[in-house]
Amino acid sequence: MTDPYANGVCTYGEDQAPGAGCIKPTGHGGAHLVTPGDTSDLDDDRLCDSEFPGDDTFVGQLCTRLRGHDGDHSCNASIAGTDHSRRLVWP
Ligand SMILES: [Zn+2]
Ligand SMILES: [Zn+2]
Repeated sequence: MTDPYANGVCTYGEDQAPGAGCIKPTGHGGAHLVTPGDTSDLDDDRLCDSEFPGDDTFVGQLCTRLRGHDGDHSCNASIAGTDHSRRLVWP
């Protein structure tokens, strides 16, 4: 059986909002399928459950990529009290 996500997830649309981005595999055909960035209506069991290990600002944010993805975990975390967000990436 071939894992369609063996080459990772398409990065189109990432960074627009927390959790946003195309959820199809890298190199997919057809249109991108971009999630709007609110992951609350995605099933938890489709998403990676790795937690950000923590730094001086953030801790415990959940990875917003699909379960079983290749490469680093990542999510966008908003910085409390500002309109800014930072992309968290961890191995
Ligand atoms: Zn795509
Ligand atoms: Zn992850």
